[in-house]
Amino acid sequence: MEILLHHDYLIQALSSTEESSVLKLCKTESCKGWVASTTIQALWQGLEKDERNKIKPLLTHLSVVTPTARDLDDALQGDDFEEKLALILIRSCGFDAVVSTMPEKFSNNEGLVLTADQVQSKIDGPVDSVNEVKLLDISASYHQILNDVEIEIADTTRTGQFILGSKVVQLEEKIADYCQAKYAVGVSSGTDALLISLMAAGIGEGDEVITSPYTFFATAGSIVRAGAKPVFADINDVTFNIKAEHIERCITPKTKAIMPVHLYGQCADMEPIMELAKKHNLVVIEDAAQSIGSEYKNKRAGSLGDMGCFSFFPAKNLGAFGDGGIVTTSSDDLYEKLKVLRVHGSKPKYYHKSIGGNFRLDALQAGVVKAKLKYLEGWTEKRRQNATVYNQLLQQNALIQYIQLPPEVFPRHVFNQYVIRAGSRRDELRTFLNENKIGCEIYYPLPLHVQECFQSLGYKKGDFPESEKAANETLALPISHEITRPQQEYIVEKIRMFFLGK
Ligand SMILES: *Cc1c(COP(=O)(O)O)cnc(C)c1O
Repeated sequence: MEILLHHDYLIQALSSTEESSVLKLCKTESCKGWVASTTIQALWQGLEKDERNKIKPLLTHLSVVTPTARDLDDALQGDDFEEKLALILIRSCGFDAVVSTMPEKFSNNEGLVLTADQVQSKIDGPVDSVNEVKLLDISASYHQILNDVEIEIADTTRTGQFILGSKVVQLEEKIADYCQAKYAVGVSSGTDALLISLMAAGIGEGDEVITSPYTFFATAGSIVRAGAKPVFADINDVTFNIKAEHIERCITPKTKAIMPVHLYGQCADMEPIMELAKKHNLVVIEDAAQSIGSEYKNKRAGSLGDMGCFSFFPAKNLGAFGDGGIVTTSSDDLYEKLKVLRVHGSKPKYYHKSIGGNFRLDALQAGVVKAKLKYLEGWTEKRRQNATVYNQLLQQNALIQYIQLPPEVFPRHVFNQYVIRAGSRRDELRTFLNENKIGCEIYYPLPLHVQECFQSLGYKKGDFPESEKAANETLALPISHEITRPQQEYIVEKIRMFFLGK
């Protein structure tokens, strides 16, 4: 339950010697408490001088929501500004109630204003049963990051430094550190991270790059955009990641790079891939778009190959409020090339020795990602816990004879997706879960070697049996840090109903 604390309630709570019941609920995280920034001023004025020092500690348990100019404007229509503003905020932010000492002060409150006792009895009462789970509900946990994010955004809008600049540099340093690489270069998207990496490695016309056919389109799309030819090698049937034995058979004198994908949040088996690369003098570009923070033999994704490419697309584990991406590297030479290519190959400004592109990251996105990075470890651990809960529930319900769980072969798996194999009944299961308002998705229904736009590469159905099988059998269930145990129980109950009819 999310509640907005009105100033009358807060003044009473802070003036009293007894601990307030609602503040206690917020402290123990039985509910989530909010205070409007405009209320803080009212507290300052409403409290005795020697009580004002209680305001700052209060804010460690409450989040501050800042009304927009439009909220204020709407609230000014009438003569009950503060009550009107509270109702506007709970509707626009999706809170459940306002807490006030005098609910009757609020006109048209539609039962949305509660006393402290009413809040308590709602929390003690029966919990609402789950009847819907979205695949991803990004805004569900926005309150957690709101204050950090809004500080970053205000810095940028107030200074007007919108492209690259200090916010991007700060993020680059933090990400390099997080990914155990020497450098990071912020770019416009995960797709552009792949493209600029290929360009920095000097890959183009006449070159071949070996990659997986079972991945998001951008992996192979970027190879073609760089002017090179994607050559596919089939995946391992357990991890869904490219297999070194298959790579080896594809190496020709034209091969210049290997682009392994760390799919769903688990690293590809990199040791044999790096050995092949060394033997044949190939560049290794990790497509780590789904795998920030994942590890392979105690090393982080992004530090395993020559370059690591990450995406800040909102649905990734570390998402921006729009598009963005980053490339990690520990090579001084590649780092310099990436920085120059990012700005049309210009160095010094307006003098071009090479042709790059506009691959710049904007400062607003960098600020958002920087603010969220502080929470990433906690979110990752929550995703891992959610995966364990699914594994346990699916086992306890005797469902593993029908579905295959996603194993963690190389810890640490960061579970950007929790993907089960549901065999030949996958499509039916998906329809059944959707009918029960459970979001689930197929990543990916058609492998890249049979995509229409790649027909000229000369592949045909049957060339990569494991990728084709995976495309027919896999299904991703909700796994984000926002989902709750009751939601997971609901999902597993529905899966049981589907397979066992009860
Ligand atoms: C998301 C993704 C990309 C592309 O990232 P964008 O930021 O959306 O351009 C590339 N590869 C893989 C495996 C991805 O999942």
